[in-house]
Amino acid sequence: PFSKLSNVGTTIFSQMTQLANENEAINLSQGFPDFMPDSELLDHVNHFIQKGFNQYAPMGGMIGLKEEIARKIENSHQAVYHPDSEITITAGGTQAIFTTIATFVKKDDEVIIFEPAYDCYEPTVELFGGIVKRFEMKAPDYEIDWSVVKDLVSEKTKMIILNNPNNPSGKILKENDIQELIKIVKDTSILILSDEVYENIVYDGKEHLSICKHPELKERSLLVASFGKLFHVTGWKIGYCAAPKALTDEFRKIHQFNVFSVNTPIQLALAEYMKNDEHYLGLNRFFQEKRDFLRQGLAQSSFELLDCEGTYFQALKYDKISDRSDFDFAQELTVTHKVASVPFSSFYKNKLNENVIRLCFAKKQETLERAIENLAKL
Ligand code: GLN
Repeated sequence: PFSKLSNVGTTIFSQMTQLANENEAINLSQGFPDFMPDSELLDHVNHFIQKGFNQYAPMGGMIGLKEEIARKIENSHQAVYHPDSEITITAGGTQAIFTTIATFVKKDDEVIIFEPAYDCYEPTVELFGGIVKRFEMKAPDYEIDWSVVKDLVSEKTKMIILNNPNNPSGKILKENDIQELIKIVKDTSILILSDEVYENIVYDGKEHLSICKHPELKERSLLVASFGKLFHVTGWKIGYCAAPKALTDEFRKIHQFNVFSVNTPIQLALAEYMKNDEHYLGLNRFFQEKRDFLRQGLAQSSFELLDCEGTYFQALKYDKISDRSDFDFAQELTVTHKVASVPFSSFYKNKLNENVIRLCFAKKQETLERAIENLAKL
């Protein structure tokens, strides 16, 4: 009787990681690197802790870090955000997403999401009384039919949540998608929450089209990004939200009571580390090698490798191997073949099963080799 989210259990990432640990399986389920971040970054953290920067940061974040973020966004997307009034440092991408939804979604507001969807969107909208309208992107291409999306829009639509590059499918939005989106939101007051935590992980020379590139979209958007993904430090739980001042002012009203401010020495360390653009410009190449290694290793198997344009997740269709549901197959793979994955159905409200699982390849070479050894024979 006291549950506000009676249909929600423990997240699939925690479940699969636990199953992996119990079975001593190689954990390619939850998305996190199993290698060390750059020691230079760690040295910066140590330096600032030792120097005595151990008390509260300003509520919106340390100015040096916000300036570096503004510089990165401008260099990458030619979009200008005022560091002090339009960028807020958050305790990770998920907190930025939660706070955005908490700030703007009221009872009976409608929010459009695209599935397969990252697992926090829907419960958070529900928590604030919002109603989710969903478009299901499907294997193998995960294309969006914008005419269907247009039909989901009503007077009550408050927000559209995008995740580009998309976790788990690895799909990125194309210019055509962006143009269709512009047509849909034009002359409405719909807000856009754009989860771009994998923005620097896009492959094969393709371009990440950030929501902030187009002024018509930027003015109504909250752009969320994550240092966990950028610098291999998911456990530091630090990210940011960039949005026009009017939206940021509202966002911070909630942010100040949600976390108030985030980790001071880590903000200072990140600001120092970001002065060198090379620290993130090589990320595509770094992960593309891992993606290609995994794909080559599984090329002779009976798995069908779906396209991976971005993120550090590879989607695999396994219908030539088993006809079990993706959830059962993922369990079996963990227990019998000692590789943990995430079943795609967990990213769909209606548990759409297309016999697809997700593998995380943000892993050291040796981990990928062991996983390939176990999977390549299937
Ligand atoms: N973003 C990570 C993933 O998709 C997981 C984060 C989490 O465990 N909540 O696997």
